[in-house]
Amino acid sequence: MSYKSILLNILFPRHCVICETPDSYLCKNCFGAIPIRKTNLCPVCQNIETFAGRVCNVCENEKRKIYLDGLIIASYYKNPVLRETLFRFKYNFIQGLSFSLAKVLAKKILSLSEFPFTDFTLVPIPLHPKRQLWRGFNQAALLVKKLQLLLDKKEVFVETSPTLLIREKNSKPQMKIKSTLVREKNIVGSFIFNKAFTNNTPKKIILVDDIATTGATLNECAKILKRHGAEKVWGLVLGRQGY
Ligand SMILES: [Zn+2]
Ligand SMILES: [Zn+2]
Repeated sequence: MSYKSILLNILFPRHCVICETPDSYLCKNCFGAIPIRKTNLCPVCQNIETFAGRVCNVCENEKRKIYLDGLIIASYYKNPVLRETLFRFKYNFIQGLSFSLAKVLAKKILSLSEFPFTDFTLVPIPLHPKRQLWRGFNQAALLVKKLQLLLDKKEVFVETSPTLLIREKNSKPQMKIKSTLVREKNIVGSFIFNKAFTNNTPKKIILVDDIATTGATLNECAKILKRHGAEKVWGLVLGRQGY
């Protein structure tokens, strides 16, 4: 432990946010209570099992345009430990929890050994600057940063591009909207492509977010990235609401 972290620990002692065991934000036992999802379903119909959560052939050929190639869901949103940890991370602003949560993502990724992760660039879903100022950090960007470090330790080397997308519209949080159609409308026009990357778009991208609701946000971002030259865009989240 570094001098700085010893001092920080004396001033602000760490406790597990679930069981209050001292010394860490999420103790080993509680971390172990977050399961890694085993089955991977098509994110559109949520009915057909596909490799790493790829969009199934039936949904791919539907009229409604799906830009996302697949969605990897690391765990279960309904798991109370995951939900509480996420809540403390996002709304009690405990940035230290990003490490444990990124570990859940890393475990899932490493379980999909045939998925060519090293070909992909990790891109966090951006927050609107106003919202980021309120929280003090972008939870998805922190997850990407920690995930890269964790994968690095396992000698899985991935690129990241944290500023590839910009959130222009401070849209209402998707979680607060019940109707799928309204959610889709709410998110359209929220993001723009960062012009600094014109002609330099990574070909394969994994969009990272904490939670997916209907997947409308991820799909909207995938649309923009594909219009700017990306060929494959997948999503990676900790859980999906109601699923
Ligand atoms: Zn605990
Ligand atoms: Zn499907």
